[in-house]
Amino acid sequence: MFEPSREEVRKFFMEAWQGQRNGRLLSPLEALATEVIQYHPEFHPLLESTSQETLERTWGPEEGGMNPFLHLSLHLALEEQLGIDHPPGISAIFQRLCRTTRDEHEARHRLLDCLGQVLWESQRQGTPPDQERYRQLLQATLST
Ligand SMILES: [Zn+2]
Repeated sequence: MFEPSREEVRKFFMEAWQGQRNGRLLSPLEALATEVIQYHPEFHPLLESTSQETLERTWGPEEGGMNPFLHLSLHLALEEQLGIDHPPGISAIFQRLCRTTRDEHEARHRLLDCLGQVLWESQRQGTPPDQERYRQLLQATLST
């Protein structure tokens, strides 16, 4: 699995967004990233700042906010999963959530919470992400 550094991830999103604004030809991954960025207007000022501080900044729980770059990364991973329907059934769950929430972004966020949870647990335990647990969490979004 490709594991870019924190700074690389941030640069990737900032450069993709800048490229989109300048009309540069984007790679498929960059195009997907800008799609995700587009429905987060609250992150735009941050992505448009080019200061070194943005590359190094941390977002702790005490700030009550999520790390925008982490959030975008999770979105990107989720879009890839939806694109290939992996884990199997995730696309169908997404479609159902879209119907019940009537809000695609909200539906994405429900799935994102599951992904974030599984990744957080895997990091904490030092084990690979638990696919079975992920499937269960995804399934559970339909009953809440
Ligand atoms: Zn989001």
